[in-house]
Amino acid sequence: MTAAVRSQAMFFQARAARQARDSGLQKTLEKARPLFVGKRAKGLAGLADDGLDFAGLRAACEAIRRRVVDDLDVWLELFEARATAGGAEVLWARDGDEVARLVVDIAQRHGVTKAVKSKSMLSEEARLNEALAAAGIRPVETDLGEYIVQLAGEAPSHIIAPAVHKTLAEVEALFAQHHERPVQARTAADIPALAAEARAVLRQHFLSAEMGISGANFLIAESGSAALVTNEGNGRMVTTLPRVHVVVTGIEKIVPTLDDFATLMRLLPRSATGQGISNYVSLLTGTRGADEREGPEKTVFILVDNGRAALAGSDFAAMLRCIRCGACMNHCPVYFSLGGHAYGWVYPGPMGSVLTPLFTGIENALDLPHASTGCNQCGSVCPVNIPLPALMHRLREMQHERGLRPWRERLALRAWAWLAARPGLYRWATRRAARYLRWLTDESGRIRVLGLAPEWTAGRDLAPPPGRTFHELYAARKRA
Ligand code: SF4
Repeated sequence: MTAAVRSQAMFFQARAARQARDSGLQKTLEKARPLFVGKRAKGLAGLADDGLDFAGLRAACEAIRRRVVDDLDVWLELFEARATAGGAEVLWARDGDEVARLVVDIAQRHGVTKAVKSKSMLSEEARLNEALAAAGIRPVETDLGEYIVQLAGEAPSHIIAPAVHKTLAEVEALFAQHHERPVQARTAADIPALAAEARAVLRQHFLSAEMGISGANFLIAESGSAALVTNEGNGRMVTTLPRVHVVVTGIEKIVPTLDDFATLMRLLPRSATGQGISNYVSLLTGTRGADEREGPEKTVFILVDNGRAALAGSDFAAMLRCIRCGACMNHCPVYFSLGGHAYGWVYPGPMGSVLTPLFTGIENALDLPHASTGCNQCGSVCPVNIPLPALMHRLREMQHERGLRPWRERLALRAWAWLAARPGLYRWATRRAARYLRWLTDESGRIRVLGLAPEWTAGRDLAPPPGRTFHELYAARKRA
């Protein structure tokens, strides 16, 4: 893990404060959240039409992903054998640097000057665009959202909607600048025209690129195929038009059979965008056959560890079940208060709050496991039943065990533990604290400055407590 990656993951609080003060961003996020939540709810309601229910499907999807995680090596070996038999090459990468080295090497051996890319979060982990550019190879993102953030020189802020933080005016300004035309006044009715403009530009890149780079939603062991689930046609262009296709994906993306893939597809698009099925579902196997007119002459799978293998068998093995649907962040009050860039590294939202410390080092992402209200919205919507809040709690425990928390926090916890073990004293102290909080309440009935913890009221008021402890209220209720 490079120093640059480590420092990206740090400083969540500073970035979060900046994002929370950005009123434009706040308005954009406010509009986006109900769309995501509403679409998923509608998509899941549609399951009943097929005689299915979320709980049953979720249990089936969880079981498939557990089976994979339990025997990861077995399924990966089977995938390698089947993919190789189909004419593809399978390479293994320990970390992001190795991914970048392998892709640049393949590109140079095949005389590649331009690579078109379909969305791949793993290529963000590997900082692949920077490595390609440094080697004189032009990377062009072709997913519309990725194209927008690439023009802006930014990282994606959401795993399925990379440019969700951008306003229409910002996109118009970017297109005008990079497509060398004057800025025009735009309304929502112009969005198809902007998409068509991007399509016309990207088409030239599809036709001239020598290499296509994609991720994979799943790798299917029994057929040696990559499954690509997209809503834009760019995925198929990237994987079939250039003469070289490189798939860069994590080792945990494996599923044993096509039937398993079909089961997971019942929940992946519904959890992500509320769709019963995505616009394009592609199964990519091997290279172009002698009698085929389309497809790459060379297909390479780069299967990446980058910290994943160490999670198998650990307290965090459940995280390997993740199918990158984005539902956890779409339902997270913290994500939608701050946006994805606050999280600093590749993965935002609750899944990022677990994955980033695990992949970049617990000591490098101290704030992220605390970026949670503990509401468990994320855990309840996860289609593979990952207990995200529990995993964040475990990370907090590990921070504490390793002495990584600030001394004031450790001292406060020690004092609380001492007090909690003395019930009489505890009741006396909490009675005093309840009265003190009541005393802080101003004439409008709110607490505006909380003396011992000023951050709590730095950006909001606190509703006043009743002035009595739970024990006192409970006793009063029993007496009544
Ligand atoms: S943790 Fe669950 S909800 Fe979040 S992206 Fe992964 S699969 Fe989806």
